[in-house]
Amino acid sequence: MSTGSIEDNLSAVRARIQHACTEAGRTAESVRLVAVSKTVDIDAVSAALAAGQLEFGENRVQELERKAGCLPERIVWHMIGHLQANKVRAVVRHAAWIHSVDTPVLIERIDRIAGEEGCCPSILLQVNTSGEDSKSGCLPEMTGQLLDAALACEHISCQGLMTMGPLPGGNEETRACFRMLRELRDSLSVSRGIPLPQLSMGMTGDFELAIAEGATMVRIGTAIFGPRK
Ligand SMILES: *Cc1c(COP(=O)(O)O)cnc(C)c1O
Repeated sequence: MSTGSIEDNLSAVRARIQHACTEAGRTAESVRLVAVSKTVDIDAVSAALAAGQLEFGENRVQELERKAGCLPERIVWHMIGHLQANKVRAVVRHAAWIHSVDTPVLIERIDRIAGEEGCCPSILLQVNTSGEDSKSGCLPEMTGQLLDAALACEHISCQGLMTMGPLPGGNEETRACFRMLRELRDSLSVSRGIPLPQLSMGMTGDFELAIAEGATMVRIGTAIFGPRK
């Protein structure tokens, strides 16, 4: 896997997404590919861009700032990594999407700063579905409270939920996490009477399982850019 050119890798990933969608009885358009470009150099991002990839994910604020500053403005940046409160302004300036929102403090801060910056970022609430201590994300039972805090904000558009599968996870365990996220989304969407269309789940090792469980955004790095150093 991922020994070819970035262009070839991207086509292969798109074909796998298409296949997983077909298997799940879904359309390929129902899944967005976020190319995770963390640690990858500018030339590699440019190569992916030239191959038609417009959405990229970063997990470090400084790297996001640096890349957003020197790559074309048409790129849609996604912040997918753990976010510190003192870095919110830089993220709000550069990222249209923030996948890793997991505390009320962060929500308040994003709302205030987005208001000051005159924008309205799309956010996803990150949920720790695997129960692993190493994972960011709120407890599943706290998600409703977090959602209510986000819905009370003027400068935040809450679009759904995000999770990471268990690291060593076997297929069943991994699917159970993704299913939990979907069911949580379904019940919150009904109880709050709002659409929460996005489910960001699935990486290189598990995105087909995530698509089978309803992922609308897959975050894929290694299969596109090769192994990270
Ligand atoms: C690094 C990362 C990914 C991509 O991982 P790959 O296994 O390289 O596809 C996805 N999501 C998050 C939050 C990440 O930090």
